[in-house]
Amino acid sequence: MALKNLGDLPVLPLPESFALTAAYNEDSFPNKVNLGQGVYRDNNCQPWVLPSVRKAEETLHNQQVNHEYLPIAGDSKFLTKARDLLFSPEIGSSENITSLQTIAGTGANHLAAIFCARNLHPKNVFISDPTWDNHHLIWEVAAPNVTRKLYPYYEPSTRGLNFEGMLAELENSAEENDVVILHACAHNPTGIDPTKEQWKKIAEVVGRKKLFVVFDCAYQGFASGDTDADAWAIRYFYSTLFAESSSLTPAGMFVCQSLSKNFGLYGERIGALHLVTPSSNSPEGAKAHLVQFVRAEISCPSLFGARIVQTVLDDAELRSKWQEDVRIMALRIKGVRTLLKLELEKLGTPGDWSHIEQQIGMFSFTGLSSAQVQELKEKHHIYMLSNGRMSLSGLNESNVAYVAQAIRDVL
Ligand code: PMP
Repeated sequence: MALKNLGDLPVLPLPESFALTAAYNEDSFPNKVNLGQGVYRDNNCQPWVLPSVRKAEETLHNQQVNHEYLPIAGDSKFLTKARDLLFSPEIGSSENITSLQTIAGTGANHLAAIFCARNLHPKNVFISDPTWDNHHLIWEVAAPNVTRKLYPYYEPSTRGLNFEGMLAELENSAEENDVVILHACAHNPTGIDPTKEQWKKIAEVVGRKKLFVVFDCAYQGFASGDTDADAWAIRYFYSTLFAESSSLTPAGMFVCQSLSKNFGLYGERIGALHLVTPSSNSPEGAKAHLVQFVRAEISCPSLFGARIVQTVLDDAELRSKWQEDVRIMALRIKGVRTLLKLELEKLGTPGDWSHIEQQIGMFSFTGLSSAQVQELKEKHHIYMLSNGRMSLSGLNESNVAYVAQAIRDVL
């Protein structure tokens, strides 16, 4: 039905993490703490420009680069480096991987969704329960005819993975060509990843049922501090399911790569989408369609982030400096996990807090209720998502005792 009056459109709420940051910025309380947004902060609560990235900026400045348009698919040198970072140089050069530069990880997810909806026509997309909230919005907007179904992921009673539930849902409800979104590592928001043995079983099911895999990889390096180790699941799926001899090849596989977090390039919006096609299929038609969607939406991607990433990854010395930067971020977050757990225990806070230390990546799924989260905000000026997700990078040696005391209080 046509809209008669623009004023009839309902007002929609801001996404929670953005609304929280806005509320935090308005808050004049001196000891306020932002544990809402998934961005890295240093031990003084400040944004951290990675030293390797600073160096690359200087190099680019001295090169007096121009500002011409990129090709629609993006900068080919950047794409080779980004692809090899995910898949390894051995796998990366395979002909059945097609790569396009995107507007960060969100743009990669969006492009994957629009491609699937328009070309693959799956009945359902399976999304982990819970997940990054934008997965729902992206698929709602880009693929309105695809039914969004949740697969069990988090089990509150064990604060762990509901692996049996996840596998049973895919086994019983997914049909050939359906899409399944998998978080490659450092699952957002739970901080819980499948083990290697569990990944192998997931791969077997998605291959046997000929599903279409969408790996979302936004935190490569944040799970272990090692970007190769964090790409294990993606490389395993590629090597076993897409080998010519495999009888378990899925319909296809996208990998949505964000370089926002591991390069600290949040606002530069840099990422890539990689499509893996079964070896019997030519990738040319799929690539042409992806290129056409990019042309319609953004014409061609943006330059600066691609130049930074390519400059860092192309230079052996800078690359190892960057790997050290990633390790520093991952280790600092690991360190505050331990600090928070110890502080909570020191205060005799009721409950078992070992999950805070055991969970992986940037977030902890604390188990706090939405009412407790609300009280933390109203009474203690501590901001986190209402589902109990805490972005640990907002914690540091100076505020961890305050946060632990506040949690003790709301419990
Ligand atoms: N996927 C997941 C799971 C995320 O957590 C995020 C960032 N919050 C993204 C994708 C997208 O990140 P960006 O668009 O900033 O690269």
